[in-house]
Order: sequence, then C-alpha cells, then structure tokens
Amino acid sequence: MAVWKCEKCGTTKESRCKPKKCTSCGEADSMVKEGTGSESKASCSAKKGCKKKSG
Ligand SMILES: [Zn+2]
Repeated sequence: MAVWKCEKCGTTKESRCKPKKCTSCGEADSMVKEGTGSESKASCSAKKGCKKKSG
C-alpha cells in the first residue's frame, strides 16, 4: 500500500494505485507518491483491480 499526497492541498490517501484525482480538492493528476515503495509504477497497471471501482 502506497501513500499518495496531493501537491495542491497536501491531503494524503492510501491506495495501491495512483488516484486519478485528489479526493479532497478534486485536482486531477495532483497525487504524488509520498510513501516508499519497492514496486515500480509499471507494476500498478499490470495488477488487476486498479481500474475497478471497488475500494
Ligand atoms: Zn488536493
């Protein structure tokens, strides 16, 4: 589980994959990975479930 932080408002969110937009301010593509992860970005899209709405 990675931690993503909004560059605009600074809110953080835990998610396996990069959120499309900030859940707080709604800014699109503003989430940057804050937590350390050994997995590369490519592994995210490779995993199933990233595009599901559940969660
Ligand atoms: Zn935000």
